[in-house]
Amino acid sequence: MSRLHALIIDGDGESGSERSAALQRAGFEVTVASSVGEAVRIAEQQDGLDVALFDIGLFNKLSARLAASIEELQRQRTSVLQLNQLKNDLIAVLAHDIKGPLTSIVGFAELLEEGYLEGDAATDAARTIRSNAQRLATLANDVLALSRVEHGELEIADERVDLIKLLQEAIHAHASERDISLHHDVAEAFVRGDSERLRQVFDNLLRNAIKYSPNGEPIRIDMRRDGESYIASVTDRGIGIPEDERERLFDRFSRGSNARRAKISGTGIGLFIVKMIVERHGGGVGVESKVGEGSRFDVRLPRIDAADSLRPMRVTLLSADATLSRFAAYELRRRGYRVREASSLAEAAGGDLRTGDVVVVDDGVAPIADIRNSIPDGISARVVGLGEPSEDGWDATLPKPFLVTDLLRAIDSPADRLVRQ
Ligand code: ADP
Repeated sequence: MSRLHALIIDGDGESGSERSAALQRAGFEVTVASSVGEAVRIAEQQDGLDVALFDIGLFNKLSARLAASIEELQRQRTSVLQLNQLKNDLIAVLAHDIKGPLTSIVGFAELLEEGYLEGDAATDAARTIRSNAQRLATLANDVLALSRVEHGELEIADERVDLIKLLQEAIHAHASERDISLHHDVAEAFVRGDSERLRQVFDNLLRNAIKYSPNGEPIRIDMRRDGESYIASVTDRGIGIPEDERERLFDRFSRGSNARRAKISGTGIGLFIVKMIVERHGGGVGVESKVGEGSRFDVRLPRIDAADSLRPMRVTLLSADATLSRFAAYELRRRGYRVREASSLAEAAGGDLRTGDVVVVDDGVAPIADIRNSIPDGISARVVGLGEPSEDGWDATLPKPFLVTDLLRAIDSPADRLVRQ
């Protein structure tokens, strides 16, 4: 007579041995599996099992794990639903926030077009159009930045940025809307980072300061050095923020009760973007506020010395050879450079060039004199020639064929003060 088969599934290896002994005494052939997976494999190999014993401890463990997974799934489902709702709200608010400025732009443009406005009235209309267009640009930048943050793609360039100049420019952009003053006791304040992104930070803070002080009170920005940091503070005398809400206002889509009460519209993404960008620069943001009296937003950024040099990070590639251009652009982007490609000088001339940029020019696309002429006054950019250009005047030349490392060396090398070897 063939023996009876028993299978014991024993998770902890203890309770199984007792049962195994008892079954063996009763004449069973016993196999012990330490997991459900192993038990299934054994069961498949056996012709038939007469008894299967399941360790209750293992069963409990499995069901606890299952319950935790279900809970986690529920949590994820709730958070996806919430995010979806927030996104729907955002779209509704965006549509509203876009319509306002657009209506005003179209209205004033029509008045100008039809010749109803002259002199000061025309200048005012143009100013209104500009500031509304600026509002739309800020909105577009924020939404783009939000999507980049969510995809982990928020690029931060590596430039030397003069905070004072940047603040002056930000103030200038809002000068038609409000009286904004800048106070500082340092002549220059250099930080390391991305001037466009930092502009976005102060644009947002100024826009909020204006928006949340609806009675038109003046705004001030104070810039000071604090040890190894600079602190730029934007102060308004507006509606203020309740104390228990201050921290969470930096969260994505978060809006304060003050804004809702005062019926001031917004998306709740501005301060989130501000915090993200500042933190990516190694800094931090804080807020002090008193309801009914006003708010102060402090932006702290690590300082660098004026003489500190940085690697150039922005390259314009000027080449009529699409294959070469694509190859070089790919290699440079992989290494974190921001690359703009153009196939002729006319095409390149539209882009904004900044001090510290490098222009790489393929053989024969344009003479060096024309390239130098196309660089705006006051901008110092290095020009690297590819191939063996006949004229002098290039900052560096790189004979073809070249390796990527040669190209990088030509871009990074010599030495005005901004460029590090
Ligand atoms: P939005 O202004 O589009 O609502 P933000 O992220 O820029 O979004 O700001 C989040 C919230 O923080 C606002 O809804 C508002 O409640 C509050 N807030 C921001 N800046 C100020 C300010 N200067 N004064 C008062 N409240 C502010």
